[in-house]
Amino acid sequence: RQAKALGHGLMSAYNRSLGRLGHRALEYDLRAAISTDQFFLVYQPKIDFNSRALVGWEALLRWRHPSLGLIAPCDFIPVAEESGVIVPLGRWTLNEACRQLRAWLDAGKADAGVAVNLSPRQFLHGDIVEAVRTSLAAHGVPGSLLELELTETVAVCDIDRVIAIMHELKRLQVRLSIDDFGTGFSSLSYLMRLPVDILKIDRSFICQLVTDQRAQALVKGVIDICEGLGMRVIAEGVETIAQASLLSVLGCSTMQGYLFGRPMSPDQCEEARQPFADA
Ligand code: C2E
Ligand code: CA
Ligand code: CA
Ligand code: CA
Repeated sequence: RQAKALGHGLMSAYNRSLGRLGHRALEYDLRAAISTDQFFLVYQPKIDFNSRALVGWEALLRWRHPSLGLIAPCDFIPVAEESGVIVPLGRWTLNEACRQLRAWLDAGKADAGVAVNLSPRQFLHGDIVEAVRTSLAAHGVPGSLLELELTETVAVCDIDRVIAIMHELKRLQVRLSIDDFGTGFSSLSYLMRLPVDILKIDRSFICQLVTDQRAQALVKGVIDICEGLGMRVIAEGVETIAQASLLSVLGCSTMQGYLFGRPMSPDQCEEARQPFADA
């Protein structure tokens, strides 16, 4: 119940209120929410299907609005991005993920890193290198435990600048991944210029995988390209054992999705570490 409440299906009531509230008010509320602790992170496991081992967590942002209740990111990230609130909000998120990593390190449970989502605006205009360096240093967390997920839309802007920023981030030992791979409009050769470590195949391909030959060919192609380039690949939105088995046969064993675990609170993460072994 709790886990479900932290996941999806929260937005329709909010959208109705949002219509009345308007973007201005939402933007105002967003700014106030940072200083009054209304945001929190939930964590979704990434697993290795063959060994059933936990390989990492993805931090996903949630907003507990004082009068509207729990709000999903698709309802407020676009407004945060448009208004620029994403810059301080993104800093809060990075810091909170590092604080959690520190807590897990102290408890001897930092067996896996945490991935944080970055918006294009935050990446290009938020002094992201400084933000990452500050968060890591504040909590004494090694960069190797932090992964940054970026969508390919970030690269259509100014690719040379994007590459330069990425190289600076790599100097902090953090890993970089391309999120929602396959949904943007960038060409493959363009994307391959980016110094990224991991491609995340978008859920839209995974949900058609079992029934659609073309989705299968495409996913297989991405997996082979990654292998050829020495990059890792992960499938997101894996919901069925049929999808997981097929992905494993195609050569992708790192997965994330409701089949293995929904986004959960840090307390639930503790309990969840074990059961992946029998998923
Ligand atoms: P995303 O980065 O692609 O994250 C995956 C989304 O799919 C999450 O939704 C997750 O809960 C959901 N999901 C995971 N497994 C499954 C599955 O098996 N089936 C289905 N149907 N869905 C699954 P969520 O948490 O609502 O986040 C939505 C989007 O909001 C994210 O998509 C990301 O783009 C953005 N977002 C979330 N947190 C942050 C953040 O801290 N910063 C930024 N900039 N964006 C964020
Ligand atoms: Ca993501
Ligand atoms: Ca994604
Ligand atoms: Ca997505």
